[in-house]
Amino acid sequence: MRPTGITIHQSVCTSINGKGYDFYITRSGTIIPASESTDPARIHICVEGDFSRPEETLSGFKEEQFFVLQKLVLRISETFGIDPADLISHSANCPGKHFPWSELVISPKDGYH
Ligand SMILES: [Zn+2]
Repeated sequence: MRPTGITIHQSVCTSINGKGYDFYITRSGTIIPASESTDPARIHICVEGDFSRPEETLSGFKEEQFFVLQKLVLRISETFGIDPADLISHSANCPGKHFPWSELVISPKDGYH
């Protein structure tokens, strides 16, 4: 079964708990792949941070982290034929309400520069 979408988590999500993701992106922009897939239907990406706090999105690392996240989303979308705009937050509280969705300007046509 091929995944049909991407779900975004924050690292403080209680259902993550050290696993439960396919890719983990640290604050400094390092991608850590999980050794086992967690959900055949969707790719789960965990972004390090607690985006219920407004300070989180103001931290200096965010720019690199979100640059990497955007690249990863485009790559996964291309690999599995998923619409890159089909990003779904895990729940109402994950990632938190300060998660900067607007930083993710997902457009495959613009993805190559
Ligand atoms: Zn979550």
